Amino acid sequence: VKFVYDFTEGNKNLKDLLGGKGANLAEMTNLGLPVPPGFTITTEACKVYLDSGEEPAALRDEVSAHLDALEQRMGKKLGQADDPLLVSVRSGAKFSMPGMMDTVLNIGLSDKSVQGLAKQAGDDRFAWDSYRRLIQMFGKTVLGVDGELFEDALEKAKETKKVTVDTELEAADLKKLVTKFKKIVKTEAGRDFPQDPREQMDLAIHAVFDSWNTDRAKLYRRQERIPHDLGTAVNVCSMVFGNLGPDSGTGVAFTRDPASGHQGVYGDYLQNAQGEDVVAGIRNTVPLADLERIDKKSYDQLMQIMETLENHYKDLCDIEFTIERGVLWMLQTRVGKRTAGAAFRIATQLVDQGLIDEAEALTRVNGAQLAQLMFPRFDESAKVETVGRGIAASPGAAVGKAVFDSYTAVKWSRSGEKVILIRRETNPDDLDGMIAAEGILTSRGGKTSHAAVVARGMGKTCVCGAEELEVDTKRRRMTVPGGHVVEEGDVVSIDGSTGKVYLGEVPVVPSPVVEYFEGRMHAGAEDADELVEAVHRIMAFADRKRRLRVRANADNAEDALRARRFGAQGIGLCRTEHMFLGDRRELVERLILADTQAEREESLKELLPLQKQDFVQLFESMDGLPVTVRLLDPPLHEFLPDITELSVRVALAESRQEPHENELRLLQAVHRLHEQNPMLGLRGVRLGLVIPGLFTMQVRAIAEAAAERKAAKGDPRAEIMIPLVGTVQELEIVREEADKVIAEVEAASGAQLKLSIGTMIELPRAALTAGQIAEAAEFFSFGTNDLTQTVWGFSRDDVEASFFTAYLEKGIFGVSPFETIDKDGVGSLVKLAAQAGRETRPDLKLGVCGEHGGDPESVHFFHEVGLDYVSCSPFRIPVARLEAGRAAV
Ligand code: ADP
Ligand code: MG
Ligand code: MG
Repeated sequence: VKFVYDFTEGNKNLKDLLGGKGANLAEMTNLGLPVPPGFTITTEACKVYLDSGEEPAALRDEVSAHLDALEQRMGKKLGQADDPLLVSVRSGAKFSMPGMMDTVLNIGLSDKSVQGLAKQAGDDRFAWDSYRRLIQMFGKTVLGVDGELFEDALEKAKETKKVTVDTELEAADLKKLVTKFKKIVKTEAGRDFPQDPREQMDLAIHAVFDSWNTDRAKLYRRQERIPHDLGTAVNVCSMVFGNLGPDSGTGVAFTRDPASGHQGVYGDYLQNAQGEDVVAGIRNTVPLADLERIDKKSYDQLMQIMETLENHYKDLCDIEFTIERGVLWMLQTRVGKRTAGAAFRIATQLVDQGLIDEAEALTRVNGAQLAQLMFPRFDESAKVETVGRGIAASPGAAVGKAVFDSYTAVKWSRSGEKVILIRRETNPDDLDGMIAAEGILTSRGGKTSHAAVVARGMGKTCVCGAEELEVDTKRRRMTVPGGHVVEEGDVVSIDGSTGKVYLGEVPVVPSPVVEYFEGRMHAGAEDADELVEAVHRIMAFADRKRRLRVRANADNAEDALRARRFGAQGIGLCRTEHMFLGDRRELVERLILADTQAEREESLKELLPLQKQDFVQLFESMDGLPVTVRLLDPPLHEFLPDITELSVRVALAESRQEPHENELRLLQAVHRLHEQNPMLGLRGVRLGLVIPGLFTMQVRAIAEAAAERKAAKGDPRAEIMIPLVGTVQELEIVREEADKVIAEVEAASGAQLKLSIGTMIELPRAALTAGQIAEAAEFFSFGTNDLTQTVWGFSRDDVEASFFTAYLEKGIFGVSPFETIDKDGVGSLVKLAAQAGRETRPDLKLGVCGEHGGDPESVHFFHEVGLDYVSCSPFRIPVARLEAGRAAV
């Protein structure tokens, strides 16, 4: 194998082998762009080194050969005393990763060659500045010396000299600083700064390899599900110098605005600077546009190169460049990060420019970005004071009074206040407060902290790890940078999409994208929002491309209408349990308490017209589209009063010697129905089988509602869904009775109702016997929420707040299996059941209801296993449509 590639040998498709940076440096080299020559050591070499603790045997020779070639080409040797070749050693994995080693510049400088460099450049200051930078970077990143020691020494040098910026230090000052830096290395690292240039280079290369396995890098990979065995590449690149005086400098740029997508000149430039100076904020940068005035020739060339890159990558690129005495050099490029809004705009702009087609445009955006654009946001034009910034853990814009404990959060919110729960970090005891709050703010913890995980699960705005904020829960206050104190009750605003924290109330505006989906804003209008225009077009691309249909989970006409506006093609899950709540509770209580069949039938008869009316409205709002109605699922006791409350009532009545026969019977029923584990108890089809008449009443309500809609010339398309089936026998019994009822209604109304009957697949046994179950089902709907619970054997309500944080931190999950379908476990059952079901009944309709129906990654999975539709909450429908389109590309 070959372990080293010259920049002329690679290309952008070799990211696995050369890392992102190396592959793109090679691509630019081959495009004829001015890249300083160099070579890349492959990830394969890194892997061998990490596995065996040693470089692969051939590596040293290969590096030597490439270094020789580089030296020949440059006409000087690495670290040569009178005219040194200098190089940078740069890490670069396939994915850019925090925790990887920083770049070391100016490798090859030593006490001797620094003199040679000074002579060659005719600039003492430059040479000593480069040398002190080398010792600083090498000391910190390769030898592990605390970087602050160098920075402090630099600060002191500036103070002594009474200057404010580093460029004001002269050669003599820098020379002294070098002596100081070398001393720091000696004391801290216990060795001298290496004077041999090749040793410098080799040590730096090994340090890059080793940085693959730092704790921080490992944790990041586990969380992002990046495999641990990819390894990192190392780039060795000959140096060009931006610190050679005012006609030199370094900068970063974007080929278009990463915030809006607009084409133009975006970037920063810093004269007489090297490397990270431009982003480190040590001196004030100038906008890139100023470069035109400073160095017109380089500026024009840069503009041309940016155009070349955009046309070549067909996307927004970000770049890093350096100008050495009026000569421009390209040091890095990659397809650049962008905001969610810009992603949509850029994708359509590129289509208009003819650079990409519709299908490609769909790969340039994603559902997570669309979801982000649908949250309400803070009005950016408002005058606001940002006081801190944390991690954008769960999107949204929340405003409320600061509270510092859960108890107060609950108390205040009960009395109608909006509150923001502020904690150092949260734990399971804070759950009530988190539910009560508009948003959650913590000063500790990252994206997988308790606060972040739970908030995301609840869809609640959360900013976590805002470290500049000093939270004092004991004294119920928070100190913000600058010393201002936020007391309990003061209003704060937090933005879960940006991580920003504001004092006071920031006005919230609805998202224009939601306004558009709601039909309150129109694409194509003269003054239409640019973003809305782009979203409108991308959604059209997705709808043209997708095979999966998208339905909504909706229980009432209002949700159904909204879902339709958002593009739903039917209802995939209408839960009927809410039809048993509110003032209907009493009827349900009577049903449960009934001693005789006659009593039971009496209460069912009263429930029937109420249910029927619900369905009539629902079928009307979804006229012409399928509506899947799930018969009652949750255990009956959920419809009865709370056990403690009821006991108190009974005891009270007893002591007052008031009549309490009904309460007592109710209490007995509650006791009778009490289950240790209701999730695995008397619910779903089991309930239908043991409470005579319950399911038939529901079926009758559906059938009569459909008949009524038919009579009104409507087009009802009801589908009856039986929950929690584990065996075909259960389904057969329910079906037989249902068929009878439907036949009766058809006979009475004279209408052909064409009701189909199907089942949920949400128990492992159902999935495993799907072939049999399909004999009695015209459709399957995978209830992946319950299926996840039953396959894993844990309950969603309990675990998300308890051990999930630990599991996420340990990398056992990259993401909660309730958020994204567990393909290997739950997913295999879905796949198996889909296949077996279709073998029995080739025209079996297959869908999924449950949170996963609106989760991007899961939607792709459902597309792959051949389902017909996904169903999700109305708000997620656009996301599901988009992802279904992307899945089909
Ligand atoms: P990062 O991965 O953090 O972007 P880089 O390897 O790109 O690290 O190095 C950071 C900066 O160091 C570059 O943007 C560039 O300014 C400077 N740099 C790296 N290599 C060279 C070089 N050969 N000549 C001049 N500057 C360099
Ligand atoms: Mg870089
Ligand atoms: Mg279920």
